[in-house]
Amino acid sequence: MTADISACREALAHLDIDDNPQTVRQKSRDFYWYSPILKEQLDDVTADLVIAPRSVEEVVEILAACWKHDVPVTTRGAGTGNYGQAMPLSGGVVLHMKHMNEILEIGDDYFVAQGGTVIEHIERSLRAVGKEIRLFPSTMSSATIAGFIAGGSSGVGAIRWGGLRNPANIRRLRLVTMEETPQIIDLVGASDISKAAHAYGVNGVIVEVEMPADPATDWVDVIIGVDTFENSCRLALEIGDDDTVCKRMLSNFEAPIPFNYFRRHRPYLEESEAVVAVTVSTETLDRLVEVVEGFDGATLRLRYDQLEEGVKLPAAFELAWNHTTLRALRVDPTITYLQMMIPRPVMFEKLAEVKDRFGDELLLHFEFTRFDGVVSPVGIPIVRHTSNERLEEIIQILELELGLPVFNPHRITLEEGGMKKTNPHQLAFKKQADPKGLLNPGKMIAWKDPDWSPSPGKTYLFAE
Ligand code: FAD
Repeated sequence: MTADISACREALAHLDIDDNPQTVRQKSRDFYWYSPILKEQLDDVTADLVIAPRSVEEVVEILAACWKHDVPVTTRGAGTGNYGQAMPLSGGVVLHMKHMNEILEIGDDYFVAQGGTVIEHIERSLRAVGKEIRLFPSTMSSATIAGFIAGGSSGVGAIRWGGLRNPANIRRLRLVTMEETPQIIDLVGASDISKAAHAYGVNGVIVEVEMPADPATDWVDVIIGVDTFENSCRLALEIGDDDTVCKRMLSNFEAPIPFNYFRRHRPYLEESEAVVAVTVSTETLDRLVEVVEGFDGATLRLRYDQLEEGVKLPAAFELAWNHTTLRALRVDPTITYLQMMIPRPVMFEKLAEVKDRFGDELLLHFEFTRFDGVVSPVGIPIVRHTSNERLEEIIQILELELGLPVFNPHRITLEEGGMKKTNPHQLAFKKQADPKGLLNPGKMIAWKDPDWSPSPGKTYLFAE
């Protein structure tokens, strides 16, 4: 199968096409450079063309032409993914969703938006009518809603609602398939939605999403200093389990992450302290303050509702999730990161083992989310990077010796990223929706190797 790029370009010449090598290269990149391993692997990746459809009809037309001329297509939202998900490994077309950015409907408890809609725009529009989005990544100011669904997993709101895998959090996806005559299909219900959610766009282009909208709450960010990281975990669990404290985000960071990397917050921080960051409802703020004041070793360091006049700080969520790594990278470009699960029942034991084993080579950062209703930590530690070999060794030790599942952010494939095993439903759906395998090639191992199996001893977050 040889791609005929020029015939494809000619067929689509009336559309918004960019073939300037510099901008095409730029639009062929995401935040893959977070990973020193992916940076080495993917630095030369680039598409041939960027095409930005203005309507579902244009998406259909582009996919039909690419199918006819065997041209690979990689869909792009805002390119904030971290694992090279939006990078066109086989060249071809980057399908840039920037024009498909309309909110189509706001209902009583839901909204419908085009796939390329920036999440902040959705949140603002919902707030204007007394509602709010349920779940968003810390990149909400630039990330698109379909990019979040296809590439992301969790974020702000997960302490209340769980991550994107919670069936209540996505109601419907409309996608366009990659066939001779592309189909427009609606996926409804958990089992169908899981075919395209967190599938890196390998089995369809999501052109429309329907998600829940909740009544708007007034939120305020609070930063708490705590004497030790263990105590910050205890405090976070106490806050997490306390249903009288309504929160949208709950994160904690080992010292000296906050002092060294949250530069604009430094005047409020103590170098030796761990930090708990909470986004709490204004209605239950007093209760949070009560909890903090009753906790030995905790000090309320900053309330955003009491900021001095004229002082503006980034929202607490822009310190958390993968923004922690971004802030650390801005100060120290040599660091890198990992993503791992810390089972709550053995949390303190594992914490001690990690610290014994790695000391300051791994600085801990947890996001607290709900798994099956239980508040549980997800680890996004900062790692001192000395060599790629050492990074691989750290992952091995964590997984095989300490029994901590790592969702490896230094791999480009769905399977090796560790979020799941080969997903037979996503594979079966790809056979139907993309029979030539032209959508985002190289991201699903099972497409070429259906018998691929993970390395022994490796633990996966989801059963499938
Ligand atoms: P892109 O990066 O453009 O695409 C992501 C994947 O989705 C790609 O595989 C792409 O091909 C596919 N895709 C995009 N649009 C479509 C479409 N319309 N149809 C089909 N497939 C499509 N992730 C989280 O889950 N939670 C976080 O809190 C979080 N925080 C982050 C913080 C930072 C600083 C950074 C750099 C990343 C973070 N991420 C987080 C990862 C990323 O930002 C999110 O996954 C984000 O939602 C991706 O949206 P995007 O529009 O940039 O998607």
